[in-house]
Formats: sequence, structure tokens, C-alpha cells
Amino acid sequence: MSETKDFVAVVTGGAGFLGSHLCDYLLAQGHRVICLDNLLTGNVANIEHLAGNERFKFIKQDVTEFIYLPGPVDFVFHFASPASPIDYLELPIQTLKVGALGTHKALGLAKAKKAGFLLASTSETYGDPLVHPQPESYWGNVNPIGPRGVYDEAKRFAEAMTMAYHRFHGVNSHIVRIFNTYGPRMRPRDGRVVPAFISQALKNEPITVFGDGSQTRSFCYVADLIAGIFKLAMSSYHEPVNIGNPQEMTVRTFAEKIRTACGSTAPIIYRPLPVDDPKVRQPNIALARQLLGWEPKVGLDEGLARTIEYFRAMLVRGAL
Ligand code: UDP
Repeated sequence: MSETKDFVAVVTGGAGFLGSHLCDYLLAQGHRVICLDNLLTGNVANIEHLAGNERFKFIKQDVTEFIYLPGPVDFVFHFASPASPIDYLELPIQTLKVGALGTHKALGLAKAKKAGFLLASTSETYGDPLVHPQPESYWGNVNPIGPRGVYDEAKRFAEAMTMAYHRFHGVNSHIVRIFNTYGPRMRPRDGRVVPAFISQALKNEPITVFGDGSQTRSFCYVADLIAGIFKLAMSSYHEPVNIGNPQEMTVRTFAEKIRTACGSTAPIIYRPLPVDDPKVRQPNIALARQLLGWEPKVGLDEGLARTIEYFRAMLVRGAL
């Protein structure tokens, strides 16, 4: 794939939160998109605006099974995976399978088609990090047998598999380590902090902070993330690159921010901290800056305003 128009991109998990935004981005660049999704955590509502677009095709497919696609493919973006801590509890085997078998199938497709490949990896590969902020050179502190291990270890395996296909088969592969990202199309009940807090605040229900709320996260708006990922896909760099927004805050401060932004008067309440919940997280994005000339542009207030607008519309439709 290049920046030339009319290339064919396959997006696994293309009906999910990030995958659907990536489909939109690629179509806007003039490319053709084949979206594969088994709709386990993805949702056709995320791509229904693309129905009738002759450059877009949706195929309901579990990518842990053999992927047969006739015709040329120029690039494979492998985004299929459950991606929320409560999904890992409910779908542990599927999470392991799509990270392991799904990555193998997606890489096999890229190899067969002589296509480029990009793996959506994660800051979870760093686990509960002992180095802060996290540079790509940090190998992480992951509990392989904890409830999050199914995601963390699947993605670590996926990175190893991707590097093996690059080194052994010469696949033009790329690995993005995605840090907490938010925006429209997150599932309101997927359990992650942004949809949880915004749904609660819009309904004037108590906001559930886990633990004492002193753990930190750094939130990237989805449009920034997708722009960075596209630049990485176009680069000739093959090792992992962090993409995220380094603006870090405690979860408690984040709860207060959302409460104010939504005009909620309900209290903040405290619930037990999930097992292995990382205490800190902030991307070191020096590599992305230097290699891709990329950095996030959308500030938290603006990104939250756009996200709240999306969830408010759901509330009005009775879908929140
Ligand atoms: N969190 C919270 N309340 C919620 C959901 C999440 O306090 O209702 C916390 C969670 O414990 C974690 C942070 O918010 O410290 C981010 O959680 P999320 O599930 O979004 O993703 P993670 O970064 O842990 O993968």
C-alpha cells in the first residue's frame, strides 16, 4: 500500500471502535476497504453509514479461521480483538485465540498477497509497568496467569509472530502499541473507563472509581490515534511504536473532569480495584515524533466534548 489511491486494505475487527474509524480514514483517502468482523464485540451500527459505498465491503468472518479472499490485497490491518478488561473476563478463550490464531491467519493473508501488515498491539504488553513513562524498549511486567493475561500474553505472542513473519518471510510488517484511546463508537457498556464514566454522568448516576482512583492513565482521541497508525503503516519501520497521548492524569481527576463536563450532580463512589490493574500508564512517544513526525493534536476537553455528544445522542435515543 502506498499513499496512492485505489489500494485494497483489509481491516480485521473493522466493525469495532478503532477498526471502524480506520475504515472511514482509509476510504476518505480513496482506498478500497474489506472489513472482516465476527461481530463478537464489534457492531454493524459502526459501519452502517458505509452501506452502499462501492469501495467498501463487509464480510462476517471469524479471523481465527482461514481467511479466503479472492483478488488483490495491498495491506492488512489486524485490529480484531476484545479490548476491554470485562471482555477478557467474559471472553478469555476468544481473546487468546484472536491474538494468537487470528494474528497467524492475518499474517498468512499478508504473506500470500504480498501485502503490508500492521498489528494493533497494546500498552498492555508493558503490564503493570516498573518503568514510567513507557518507552518501546521496556519489556514489561506482565502477570501471565492473571485475568488480564489472556489479552496481554496474546498480544505479546502476536508481536512475536509478527516479527517472525517479518524476519523469516520478509513481510513488510508494523506494530503499533496503542495506549488508552477514546471517542465515539465505544460500546456504552464495555466497562472501560470512558464510556462507563460518561454514561453514568449523563444519567446522573454515581461515578464508579475503582480503587482509590490514584492510578493514572493517558487518553488519546481516536482521530489522533488513527492518523498516527496510518503514518506508521506507510513507514519502513518494523519494530513496535507507541501511539498515544502523553497527557497523564489520575482516574479520580478524570472522573471529576467528566462529571463537570456532563453537568452531573451525582457523587463519585469507590469500588474495588480489578486484579492487576496497572498503577500508572503514560506513553513515551519520542519514537513516533522522530520517526513519523506525529503527535496528538486533539486536547482532552475537545475530545471529551465530541465523545460526550455521541453518548448524549445515544441517551436521547434510549440506547444508553
Ligand atoms: N476504571 C474505573 N471505573 C470504571 C471503569 C474503569 O475507575 O467504571 C478504572 C480502571 O480500574 C483503570 C482505569 O479506569 O484503572 C482505566 O480502565 P479501562 O478499563 O478503561 O482500561 P485499562 O486502562 O485498565 O486497560
